[in-house]
Amino acid sequence: MKKASSRATPRRKTPTARKKPATAAKKKSSSPETGRPESAQPVIHAQRKLGSLDVSSAEQMDIAASDVILPSFADLGLASELLEAVKDAGYTSPTPIQAQAIPLALEGRDLIGLAQTGTGKTAGFTLPIIQRLIEGNHDRPSAAHRVRVLILTPTRELCIQVEESFRKYGRHTGLRVAPIFGGVGVEPQTKMLRKGVDVVVATPGRLLDHMERQNVVFDDLEVLVLDEADRMLDMGFAPQLNKIVAEVPRFRQTLLFSATMPAEVETLARNYLRKPIVVQVGRRSSAASTVTHAVYPVPRDRKTDLLAELLQKDGMDSVLIFSRTKHGADRVVRHLSGKGVTATAMHADKSQVERMRALEEFKSGKIRVLVATDIAQRGLDVSGISHVINYDVPQQPEDYVHRIGRTGRAAASGDAFTFMAPDEIAMVRSIERIIGEPIPRISMPGYDFGSVTGELEGVRAAPVSVARRRR
Ligand code: AMP
Repeated sequence: MKKASSRATPRRKTPTARKKPATAAKKKSSSPETGRPESAQPVIHAQRKLGSLDVSSAEQMDIAASDVILPSFADLGLASELLEAVKDAGYTSPTPIQAQAIPLALEGRDLIGLAQTGTGKTAGFTLPIIQRLIEGNHDRPSAAHRVRVLILTPTRELCIQVEESFRKYGRHTGLRVAPIFGGVGVEPQTKMLRKGVDVVVATPGRLLDHMERQNVVFDDLEVLVLDEADRMLDMGFAPQLNKIVAEVPRFRQTLLFSATMPAEVETLARNYLRKPIVVQVGRRSSAASTVTHAVYPVPRDRKTDLLAELLQKDGMDSVLIFSRTKHGADRVVRHLSGKGVTATAMHADKSQVERMRALEEFKSGKIRVLVATDIAQRGLDVSGISHVINYDVPQQPEDYVHRIGRTGRAAASGDAFTFMAPDEIAMVRSIERIIGEPIPRISMPGYDFGSVTGELEGVRAAPVSVARRRR
């Protein structure tokens, strides 16, 4: 691995815990100029007390984003290789979660990052980890079977995305990263692990297979990251996590990221982290603020017709549709093709190769319409999605937030529409309770099952922050 160059600027104390200097409050412009994900804007809660967790004794502070002076990447104390890489990525300034998490992670603190998808959290942990790797023991690359950093992710898609981030931000270093996930051959992964790598990004099941075959040893592990911890627990990975963490050294740095903080995640944090500092961006469950969203009331049996009609409208350039079931997703694809619209389905019955191909084609713009079950819900970074359509109302209100987070990522604004059949009204109300505001309704003449017709046709959905039910 290449030698680390000297730090670009002296490391300074984290900006997160400082109160706003009375005179200097200055609003940094939002994403169109900065390229910063706007979903990171609303409120920063820094270093707060979390339930019974023994977190930092620092006071809880609510700082309006408009009152925060965001530092530059150089201010955060990143090495020149990393400053180059963020410049190559086109980032002009850190997002709020990056501004908070990076200096703390560089100090070696354990962190709980409460941040929804689209806030830039991946770079928030990837950059300081790479810095640690190039600064410490840079002339001693990982030996055979050894690993210095382990990142656990719930899905293959997120695993690939995090691995890509390591490659992107570590491009000016000689870092070796191995993505480890199921559904593909074991042999190439075995070879990589046996050689020794710096970073393993893995889903828990496949990693355990490799551990059982003694392909990988964690005695040298320095950093453990649990990404989308809530999702991992939702997917039933708790036993695998416990087995894996039992095999890693107790003295390590642990970073846990989660969109939500249910009791189970809190317990995990209590068991695995030491005196963690909690950094939180935005209100829990708040919908990404660049996204505009709306509900279309429509009888269940008219949903596909409404969908086909909407897809003909201008600007529907890259549309991700969520269906509750695999069969439902296949049915939507069939129905659309009957209407001359080419679409592809992505769900758990498809092979990993088919899923990866669908994703690639969607990312490259070859496929305009992708119909997915919730495997695509988190961790899928498809920049430039113009629309998300919930063909079925998500059953878990939290899922609504994650889904509509697909659009509105990294500054682009996108629309998110939800088709609501009469028996789904209560579920929409639950979502509105969770996000703390009503979602505007759009009534399409000929489709709305209610009495209001026509009056809102063509109305663009309101931005989330000003969303008011218009009926
Ligand atoms: P994440 O929340 O980590 O999945 O990141 C969401 C998106 O934001 C990704 O497409 C990143 O490439 C992008 N991103 C991350 N950090 C920045 C930044 N500082 N400025 C602009 N875009 C960013």
